[in-house]
Order: sequence, then C-alpha cells, then structure tokens
Amino acid sequence: MDKKAYLKEERNAEWRVELRKSLKPKERMSLIRVEMNEEDPTERATSYVEVNTGLTLEQAQNEAKRCLDCGNPTCITGCPVEINIPGFIKRIEHGDILGAAKELKKTSTLPAVCGRVCPQEKQCEAHCFYTVKMKKTPVAIGYLERFAADYERESKNISIPEVAEENNIKVACIGSGPAGLTFAGEMRKRGYDVTVFEALHEIGGVLKYGIPEFRLPNDIVDVEINTLKQIGVKFETNFIVGKTATIEDLKEEGFKAFFAGSGAGLPRFMNIPGENYNGILSSNEYLTRINLMHAAKQNSDTPVISGKNVVVVGGGNTAMDSVRTAKRLGAQTATIVYRRSMEEMPARVEEIEHAKAEGIEFMTLANPVEYFADEQGQVNKVRIQKMELGEPDASGRRRPVPIEGSEIDIKADTVVVSVGVSPNPIIPDSLPDLETTPWGTIKVNQDNLQSNISDLFAGGDIVRGGATVILAMGDGRKAAASMHDYLQKA
Ligand code: FAD
Ligand code: SF4
Repeated sequence: MDKKAYLKEERNAEWRVELRKSLKPKERMSLIRVEMNEEDPTERATSYVEVNTGLTLEQAQNEAKRCLDCGNPTCITGCPVEINIPGFIKRIEHGDILGAAKELKKTSTLPAVCGRVCPQEKQCEAHCFYTVKMKKTPVAIGYLERFAADYERESKNISIPEVAEENNIKVACIGSGPAGLTFAGEMRKRGYDVTVFEALHEIGGVLKYGIPEFRLPNDIVDVEINTLKQIGVKFETNFIVGKTATIEDLKEEGFKAFFAGSGAGLPRFMNIPGENYNGILSSNEYLTRINLMHAAKQNSDTPVISGKNVVVVGGGNTAMDSVRTAKRLGAQTATIVYRRSMEEMPARVEEIEHAKAEGIEFMTLANPVEYFADEQGQVNKVRIQKMELGEPDASGRRRPVPIEGSEIDIKADTVVVSVGVSPNPIIPDSLPDLETTPWGTIKVNQDNLQSNISDLFAGGDIVRGGATVILAMGDGRKAAASMHDYLQKA
C-alpha cells in the first residue's frame, strides 16, 4: 500500500475516529503545550547526568490531546524520514505507547536519538498546523517521540522490525553515524546482507564521539544499535575503508554496492596568529577525547587540561556542547565568543537556553583575531575584535563587519575552536574517479543519491557538509531505496 493510502486507512480506523470525537478541536486547541522536565541547572552543570528527564505518562497523554489529527498532516512534510506523526501521537493519547514506538520505528531507525537531538523547531514542528495556521506553539512532537521510544526501552519490550527473506546480496556501508545506521537498517529490512565498516572503535559516529552524555547518553544510542544487530546488521570497527581495505578489495570479497556515510569530521580553524599555541584545540578533538577516550578522567593516558578560563569560538551545537562540557570539567568562566548576534546563532534554541541557565557567558558580535601565550607556549589571552551587522550574505544572515579599533583582550587558558567542519577526505582521496565539489563533499544525483561511480551511493554530512542527524537519516533511507532499485535492475 502506498504511503498516502496507508495514512488514510489508519486515520479512518474505528479507534482513531472515536478518539477524534472524544474532544472537540476547540478544546484540544485550548490546552497548553507541555514543558520538558529537566535537572536543576546548578547541580547538572557539574555532572554528566542527562539534562532533560523526559515526560511522565500523564504529561505525554495530555500533550498528545493537543494534536488535531489533521486530515492533511503537514507535520509529516517537515520530517525527512516521513514519520507517521499523528499516527504515533494518537496511539499515545489512546494509551497504546508500545504501538506508538512501533509506528515510529517503521520509518525511523533512531527514535530515542531523534527525540533528543533533532531540531524539531525547524522540521516537523515548524510545519505543524498550530505553527503554520494559528501562529501558536506547535505540538511537542519531539518530546512525544522521545517519550514513546523511552517507554518502550524502559519497559524492556523493544520491538524488532521485520526483515524480508535473505537475498544473499552483500552491501557495504562506510561509516556508522546516523546516515550509515539508517541505511544499514533499511537495507537489512529488505533482506540484504549488510556490513557497516567504521574507522573508530565505537559505533555511532557523532552520536557517540561528538554529542555529550548530558544530552544524549551512549546507552540510549547502544540500544538502538543493538536493534540493528538483532536484525542481522554486521559491524566491523577499527576498519578504515580506503586504508584497511579499498573499495576494490571489498568488491573482490563479494560486495555489490556501497554507501558512503563517512561524515564531516575534519575540523576547520581560523588561521589567525597564535592558533598553534598549546591549549588551543578544535571542538572535534576536545569532544572526541572526552567522550570517546575518557580524557576527563584522572587516570586517562591522554588527559585534557581542565581549563579555568575557557573560551569557545562559534555559535553552533558543537560550540554549545564544548562550552557546557568545559563547565562540567570545572571551568570558572566558560564563554562563547560568536561573531554574529544571539538571533543568528545556529545552535538549537533549547541548547542555548540550557547553556545560559548553567552559567555560560555569551560574548556576541565578537571575533578572535589573535592569541597570546606564556613563555611555555601555553595560551593565556585572546584578542577579540568587536563586530557589527552589515548587509545579508549568501546565507541570508547579516554579515558581521569588524569595528576598527575595538579590540579587547580576555584571559583564556583553553580555547576550543568550533567554527565548522569539512568532509572526511579518505573516501574521496581513495577513489580518484569520484566526482566531488570544491568543498570536498561527494557529488551525488539529488534524486537518488548515486555518485558518478554507479555502485557508490552517498549521504549525510559527506554530501551536505556539517548538517543534522535527521537529514543524515533521511539520506540513509533514500539511498537504501535507490540502491535497492539499482541492484534489482542489475
Ligand atoms: P557522522 O555522524 O560524522 O558519522 C560518520 C562516521 O564515518 C564516523 O563514525 C567516522 O568515523 C566514519 N568514517 C569516516 N571515514 C571512514 C572510512 N573511510 N571508513 C570507515 N569509517 C569512516 N545534529 C542535530 O541534528 N542535532 C544536534 O543536536 C547536533 N549536535 C551536534 C553536536 C556535535 C558536537 C556535532 C559534531 C554535531 C552535531 N550535530 C547535531 C550534527 C550531526 O551530528 C551530524 O550532522 C550527523 O552526525 C551526520 O551524520 P553522518 O552519518 O553523515 O556522519
Ligand atoms: Fe497533529 Fe500538528 Fe501534525 Fe496536525 S500538523 S497532525 S496538529 S502534529
């Protein structure tokens, strides 16, 4: 059955019709949006406990009542993996929480992850009837997604997706971030023999090495990875495709097609004087060492210095994760230095609010222009130039323009540079015939995510540059459908 027909049939089910009748739309619209429960800001700022603690059953069901079960659910158009949003929300209202989790898993491999880190305010919630037509706060779709996924996990009733009959066709996935995991799950469900090759010793990509425990606990990611293992996805860690073995080697082992979900983990720097001093590092290195190498622990072989005055340069999610991590490591001052104003900051609003509540300082319209160090070469000062906003640039945001003679110096013993990332180069470098863009991303046909090498598909950050979890997942899903078509015709 096609998607539209399925949604219509679902919506006309007797229980759904009864549920709709149980409250008038006006009554639903008069309900107030739920607020997420969270740990106390002062206490959580010194620990790694998860900040958001989730909704109670009562809160979730009340929030579910706000959803109008629209005939034309525009929220779905805002979801890159096309979750049946009213379908799962109405199951929550109806009390069938496990059914809600099952519905989510039909199209999303990582609902507990997405419920925590997706920018719903820019995706499904931005397309909700309340936002679009009424200019009111949307249904809390993300909170409800998290609730259903957590409920399923905590009740130890984890549903395992159905897998089609084995077709014994081997396909390889390069990288185990959200793009790769989604691709792997979708291909496995179609009966393929799927192996995920991951360069690091942990599976999960940025979900594990980038996003910290206080926002996305590793245990939660592992449960979703375990579901993939249970349906038969194979994982090879410490395996760099292009180095440990080439794509040609893998073809000789019988792999018929490849998906590159190798991400954008190469840090960018600003190339300003003093950037090589000790104590200045990229957010990638900072977060990976702490999240994956346990560098914050006393007995670590490669400890990070717990700076007293930490400056984080940038305004994205990565910058917010770095500065909040610094606070948790004991920084007395942890400051964001961002060249535009608060309004342009690309990090999720929730993360900015959490950071403020935890005592993070924000220095906006400010840009580092030089670093200074002591005699041992350890950074001790950042020269900051004040900025003002000029005309909009290509991104539509107003361009920051330096104010001459406005420089000030601030103390810093650790600087974390978080000004963007570039694509991981190993796959493009190992395939000289592969077409790439001037930014190093893999060029693909947007309709099917196929590269100019016909058996190589690609998606996620290796195609988009640094983007989001849900866009990477959407690509993984689309690439699986295209690769399936390609292999069926081969
Ligand atoms: P990745 O997650 O980067 O995974 C790629 C994987 O491929 C890596 O594990 C890498 O080791 C592996 N790999 C690379 N080359 C090879 C090779 N040759 N062989 C084998 N393996 C290889 N997005 C959000 O939506 N919400 C957030 O709150 C958010 N917060 C973020 C916080 C941080 C600190 C960072 C860094 C990013 C954040 N993002 C967030 C962005 C989001 O995480 C990424 O857009 C997403 O992870 C991209 O997924 P991916 O699968 O394309 O790549
Ligand atoms: Fe519910 Fe909003 Fe989707 Fe309508 S658009 S079905 S109200 S979540």
